[in-house]
Amino acid sequence: MRRILALLALFSVPALAQQPATLVLKNANVYTLDDKQPHAEAVAVVGERIAFVGSNADVQRYVGPQTKVLDLNGATVVPGFTDAHYHFMGVGQRELSFNLEGTKSLDELLSKVKERVAQAKPGEWVVGRGWIETFWKPPVFPSRWDLDKVSPNNPVLLGRSDGHGAVVNSAALKLAGITSATADPFGGKLLRAKEGVGDVPAGVAVNEPNGMLLDRARGLIRVSDDMAVDPEKAALAADARSIMLGWCEVQDPGGSWRDVEVYRKLYGEGKLKVRIYKAISGPGAEADRLIQQGASVGEFGHRLTVRSIKVVSDGALGSRGAALLAPYSDNPQTSGFLTVKEEALRPMLMAALKNGIQVETHAIGDKANRFVLDEYARAMAAVPSGERKIKEPRWRDEHSQIVSPQDLPRFKKLGVIPSMQPSHAIGDLFFVPSRIGAQRTKGAYAWHTLIQDGNVIAGGSDAPVERGEPMIEYYAAVARKPLPERLAGANLDPAVWHPEQAMTREQALKALTLWPAYAAFEEDIKGTTAAGKLADFSALSADITKIPEAEIPKTRNLMTIVGGEVVFQEK
Ligand SMILES: [Zn+2]
Repeated sequence: MRRILALLALFSVPALAQQPATLVLKNANVYTLDDKQPHAEAVAVVGERIAFVGSNADVQRYVGPQTKVLDLNGATVVPGFTDAHYHFMGVGQRELSFNLEGTKSLDELLSKVKERVAQAKPGEWVVGRGWIETFWKPPVFPSRWDLDKVSPNNPVLLGRSDGHGAVVNSAALKLAGITSATADPFGGKLLRAKEGVGDVPAGVAVNEPNGMLLDRARGLIRVSDDMAVDPEKAALAADARSIMLGWCEVQDPGGSWRDVEVYRKLYGEGKLKVRIYKAISGPGAEADRLIQQGASVGEFGHRLTVRSIKVVSDGALGSRGAALLAPYSDNPQTSGFLTVKEEALRPMLMAALKNGIQVETHAIGDKANRFVLDEYARAMAAVPSGERKIKEPRWRDEHSQIVSPQDLPRFKKLGVIPSMQPSHAIGDLFFVPSRIGAQRTKGAYAWHTLIQDGNVIAGGSDAPVERGEPMIEYYAAVARKPLPERLAGANLDPAVWHPEQAMTREQALKALTLWPAYAAFEEDIKGTTAAGKLADFSALSADITKIPEAEIPKTRNLMTIVGGEVVFQEK
């Protein structure tokens, strides 16, 4: 497969070179990550591919009457950024979330809801959060009857800012089947009639729920993310944000075929611009469908690929759900827990290997990481390379966060790709010492060790868990310390922060370009700036290979080019 792609590239380069360019970038500070020609001033693009990389003088011969010529005025141009772990729909939902912080009165709350309902489709959920009644006059909770005045038909759910209460309208209660006969659930309470709220319509029975749900009663309302936000709107909002920040590709870990159908529809209509490398959640029926159908590579001009299954093997460190080999330092009663069963995972791993499907597994704790390496190794031993559709499966370990030092060499040995999020390290290391103690940070976020061992690190952000910005990830990877605004007074004990595990600037750039391309079997067509490759570029306001660390987060994306098309340009 790789050989065929290489041959195609050989044939296509001279063919492209004879035609005038559709797009020329000149006066640029181009970092190519191509060893044969690491630096250039200009690039010529024919259609979606790069035709030439070189000097301002030499690029002139590609300029024809139809060529769009962009003078970059010295801007730094890098191969298009790729985020290897970016929950695309989640990013869109965050963009569209309805923020009620700072609402000063019940009337203001209702007018905001009214405005939102007017934009919603019939029956679409309106979900917001952030109101608090403490300073309202009178300081009482809103009720279902208040909300019904502005939203008689669309279900509405609005979370109180502390996260311990929410109000819903009558349409939402009806969808959830909540009536006066519904009992309070364990750990929660449905407020009734006049309890805690203002005016109540005449004739309401004393046990009639008034729409306020406290704590676990919120769980009675099953508003899933995709009910809350129209998935097409979410995808478009995520796309706009992604290309604005300079992402040319995002690798979307987990989700369903529903997501794939949304992406296909929007690509078909030409509305989605960023490339998406999509994983389907497994084990289960949705993943089995991918195994049966086989990978779908490069749809819509390499915009969409579906070839991976996302598994979740444990929880998170903050909530002590990450599976550890020994108990938590700040709670000896627990070591966290695994979240997938061997009996479900094993047959799926073997079937994936046979059918050329990649597997990427979330693993945070040292026990989960060992479990993933063990299970991957077992499957690879059971399905030798002759029985595999793709000999080199390039399976991934998403997060590879707390790893026992004795397990670190196994990544290279097994060919398992660590997919890591630099921003997690610079956020987590504030509380990691209390969770696991300094001793266990020896194999934590061990970027340098993994790279020295010969691994590539697929770098990403885990947005919307993190902000999902290339410059934050790049800064975190090279600085390995808090963002400049959080630096003052931070205790950066080297026995916890391990500054020796930082990446060099070149490594960090590869972690956001070439290495995620490799982790997606795309290194022959993406990841460096070279003739024959897809014309994906991010143009930056500063030279991130040279500026002081503190300047990196302030660097702006000026222009995003995907497949030779300028999809974002700073105004
Ligand atoms: Zn994630």
